[in-house]
Amino acid sequence: MQLKKLEMKRIVIKVGSHVLTEQNRLARERITNLVSFLADLRKKYEVILVSSGAVAAGYSKLKLDKSILGNRQAIAAVGQPYLMSVYAKKLGVFGIVTAQVLLNASDFDSRKSTKNAKNAIDVLIKKGVIPIINENDATDISELVFGDNDQMSAHVAHFFDAHMLVILSDIDGFYDKDPREFKDAKMRKNVSEILDKDLDVPCIPNGSFATGGIVTKLKAAKFILANNKEMFMASGFELLDAKSFLLDGVHLKGTHFKRDR
Ligand code: ADP
Repeated sequence: MQLKKLEMKRIVIKVGSHVLTEQNRLARERITNLVSFLADLRKKYEVILVSSGAVAAGYSKLKLDKSILGNRQAIAAVGQPYLMSVYAKKLGVFGIVTAQVLLNASDFDSRKSTKNAKNAIDVLIKKGVIPIINENDATDISELVFGDNDQMSAHVAHFFDAHMLVILSDIDGFYDKDPREFKDAKMRKNVSEILDKDLDVPCIPNGSFATGGIVTKLKAAKFILANNKEMFMASGFELLDAKSFLLDGVHLKGTHFKRDR
């Protein structure tokens, strides 16, 4: 009897700017830890990385006022290849090749362009390359931007056929209230639906390079759940919870968003 070849599950890892940067520059040690985690994950999963950090990476080379859109785009244009060179070097140590894929919200607007992008991703993954995706900050026009990589990564996960989106954040999970404000906040380990009241909180990202905040993560979770996929949100500073969940199947901490269990 012929054994059916087991297909590897595909996951999207999204890492936020706060995790990737420290005092206005790239946090190299954290990136090294992330990269070695990606190398481990690749033994079990097909891996796509959605990485923020272009603006922070660029700002160390081009110090302009970030509150002006044109400046931010210029800084991102400088930072994106620099960020990629750091990833390429660090993943190269594990013999892994990377590819830069810059997407716009409009890439998910038409079935044709989504299919083209997916074809390219499929080829890269089949060849063992880790695609690193970011929003194309330098040319995006405001009506068409996601504006945050949380929601873009949810689209990437859904349209590129991943079963799970993993958000590595500066916070180790989703709490019943903001843990930085309330000492008695409790982590919600399992969430099966996103309620409107959950989204009705001020969207205040933590850090001057951050664009998201908890709301964009919950919007991403809502999209993921509506499409019957899963999301896991955990700390990107300390990767123990994400490693345990994804590599050993043990849910220590972090929030697992999954419909009706
Ligand atoms: P990243 O840079 O990883 O994308 P952000 O800083 O944009 O992350 O968003 C995460 C922040 O959202 C946390 O640091 C926390 O202060 C804030 N936050 C507000 N409400 C909550 C909540 N209910 N659970 C978790 N974090 C929350």
